[in-house]
This record gives sequence, C-alpha cells and structure tokens, in this order.
Amino acid sequence: MRLVLVGPPGSGKGTQAEKLIERLGLTYIGTGDILRTAVRDGTPMGKRVEPRMKQGLLVPDEEVNEVVAELFRSADRPNCFVVDGYPRTYSQAVAFDALLKQQYLDLDAVICFVVSDEEVIRRMCSRNRDDDKEETVRRRLAEYHKITDALLDHYRQKGLLKDIPASGTPEEIHQNVIKAIGAAR
Ligand code: AMP
Repeated sequence: MRLVLVGPPGSGKGTQAEKLIERLGLTYIGTGDILRTAVRDGTPMGKRVEPRMKQGLLVPDEEVNEVVAELFRSADRPNCFVVDGYPRTYSQAVAFDALLKQQYLDLDAVICFVVSDEEVIRRMCSRNRDDDKEETVRRRLAEYHKITDALLDHYRQKGLLKDIPASGTPEEIHQNVIKAIGAAR
C-alpha cells in the first residue's frame, strides 16, 4: 500500500500515520523529520533550509523534491510507504507523480483528514487560550488552505483522494481510514 497523508496542523495526522505503519507494515516518509535531521547535522542542504524552517515557512519545492527523489533513487528505496508532509504544494505533487512514474510505482490513495478551522483552534489553543497563539494558528491554517486546495484538486481529479472526517477517537478515525482504502481484514 502506498499512501499520502494530508491534513492541517492539529488534525491528528501523525497519530494516524503511526497506526497505519503498525497495521500495514509501511515505511514512514516524513519530510519534516528528514529536513530537521539535515538542519541538526548541519549538511549543506540543512544549512540552506534552516532559516525558513526556523520561521515556520515552507522550504523551496526544489529542495524538498530533491530530498524525496534521493530517497526513492537509493538502493533500499521504499516500496510500501506512507508519506507525511509531502507533497505540500501542487508543484511538489507534479514532481512526485513524475518520480513515482519513473520508479514504476503507483499511489493507492491520498488521505485528507478533514477538520474545521474552529476545531483545530480549539484543539491547539484549548489549554492556554492565548490570543497570540490563536492568531498564529489562524495564520497557519489560512496558509494551509491557500496552498492545499490545488493539491487536493489534483488528486481528486486522479480519483485518489479520500476525505476522512478527523473527528472521533484516534481508533475510530483509523477504522475510517482502513475502510476508505479497502484494507479492512
Ligand atoms: P512538518 O514536521 O511536516 O510540519 O515540517 C516541518 C517543517 O519542515 C515545515 O514547517 C517546513 O519548513 C518544512 N517542510 C516539511 N515538509 C515540507 C514540504 N513538503 N514542503 C516544504 N517545506 C516542508
């Protein structure tokens, strides 16, 4: 099974990735993790992306596309995987399509965790309702919608998009994902 996970911050995407890995034995590909490691190790790429990462901005498409391409061109390239945090933009999706095609790999589904902005704000700001934090979350959400809509349209047109309401317990959401991808056993 080859999956892409899409969802706003606070949608529980990371938890769902873990459950899918455990259940389906998939390899985790998290571009956030890879980029953070590169920054920590001070690699040339890490040095280039560090300022943008520190500001919470997306790194350039070419940098992240190259990171993913390198992974798939390696001798132990992942075969069954769940990608978390990539593609984030339409242009990344086009690059990823081309890479997978080159590697004779097909995606099975793109899972989009759907949660309202108000619910994300409630989840992320519930402990300490601090106006600054709420403002930051709102800004991140606006940015998320702005860039994600085109990405989702792209995968919807390909018939790969599965919208999953990200409400209920993590286990309920997981069951909905399993049903949507037809992996129920
Ligand atoms: P994440 O852990 O997925 O939230 O990613 C952490 C940070 O890594 C983001 O804020 C971006 O700076 C960078 N990043 C991760 N994935 C991507 C991507 N697909 N495109 C651009 N920047 C990314």
